[in-house]
Amino acid sequence: MSNCAIVGINWGDEGKGRMVDLLTEHFDIVVRYQGGGNAGHTVINERGSFALHLLPSGIFRPGVVNVLGNGVAVDLENLWNEIRQVAEKGVEVTPENLWISDRASLLLPWHRSLDGLEEDRLAGKKFGSTKQGIAPFYSDKFQKKTILAGELLYPEHLENHARDLLEWKNLTLTGVYGAPPVSMEELMGWLNEFGTHLKPYIRNTGKALREAVEAGKRILFEAQLGSLRDLDYGIHPYTTSSNPIAAYAPVGAGLPSVHVDEIIGVVKAYSTCVGEGPFTCEWFGPEAEKLRQAGHEYGAKTGRPRRVGPIDLVATRYGVECQGATALALTKLDVLSYMDRIPVCAHYRLNGALTDDFPFPAVLEQAEPVLEYLEGWGCDISCVRRWEDLPEAARRYVEYVEQAIGCPFAYVSVGPERDAIIYR
Ligand code: GDP
Repeated sequence: MSNCAIVGINWGDEGKGRMVDLLTEHFDIVVRYQGGGNAGHTVINERGSFALHLLPSGIFRPGVVNVLGNGVAVDLENLWNEIRQVAEKGVEVTPENLWISDRASLLLPWHRSLDGLEEDRLAGKKFGSTKQGIAPFYSDKFQKKTILAGELLYPEHLENHARDLLEWKNLTLTGVYGAPPVSMEELMGWLNEFGTHLKPYIRNTGKALREAVEAGKRILFEAQLGSLRDLDYGIHPYTTSSNPIAAYAPVGAGLPSVHVDEIIGVVKAYSTCVGEGPFTCEWFGPEAEKLRQAGHEYGAKTGRPRRVGPIDLVATRYGVECQGATALALTKLDVLSYMDRIPVCAHYRLNGALTDDFPFPAVLEQAEPVLEYLEGWGCDISCVRRWEDLPEAARRYVEYVEQAIGCPFAYVSVGPERDAIIYR
């Protein structure tokens, strides 16, 4: 295997960062290919506990090169702060182990302001944005109204381009939202301050990655969020504004002609979801609170309590199909240990009929979960490291899920620590 994508099968927060951190051992380069700092990957290893937002999860492995590809929303300020935060815990980030694509677009402070202004305008009809500016950023990228990271290397060009964009953006800020305009001093001050810190990291990563492929280097593509948040295939409009699916990895990474050899989909042993939108399996009340606490289900970026429920086999099967997963990792199986019997959503009921097809977004809200129950295992499994040492009921749960979703679990995670993993 020369390259591999690690992707989320569900709504995000499946534990992708944990899997990337584990598997980087076998790779030379880790590339983030979409999204921005709007979600968090939690990684716990011998160097501490980290919540990464923009930095690829390979940053902890000495010798691994980490790349922010052209598909990523690069917020210079947040990236610089994150670099300093991990540096405080002894993780060195240098232009040797972090490369920023010169073709990545910059997420500017006005994207964050616009996110907040639009959520305020929507009032009761919010999409649940993390207000990190992601949707306004990608809208501007598709309008070709963004600054590329590489422009920081051409100051005169940058200033002229920034002035044109400022004039255009102020029309929206003041005219549409009645907000104060941004001045050229503010914009250039921000670009210069953070640009100075980050310029050394910017390079033609497409060329460097092509050369790495030719030299036989192994590349890991790291996704943010999951299938059901994909702009084109997710629960529109409650999706993110980019494509977390593996098919986008070569494009967003800077290797458009490369074939992804292996796609490892990360599935959580139960369902969680942050933000708004239909969530068929959702639990409420004490049942939800118990699961939320058992799994520490609070957002890494926002601290928001995550919505929780049993595993959703209809959505998960669809998620696996969208990703074209070749193998799966099941995470957080240990969290279910407190349950006497484990609920699974085996089908949906839609308009009175049973269905196994994931519905069109507009009717998803009407779908009801059809639950089945499997026997619980009633003991702590977080110290188990071999498949045959798992209680039989836990193995049955894993086998039941993989059979239902049509793809094997190659890894079963029973704790957040790097070594809390069972290889099958
Ligand atoms: P990501 O964005 O997909 O990387 O996921 P998050 O980091 O947002 O959420 C996953 C959370 O679950 C993190 O806090 C991990 O440390 C934790 N985690 C990952 N795998 C396991 C596991 O198998 N068991 C337990 N108990 N926690 C896990």
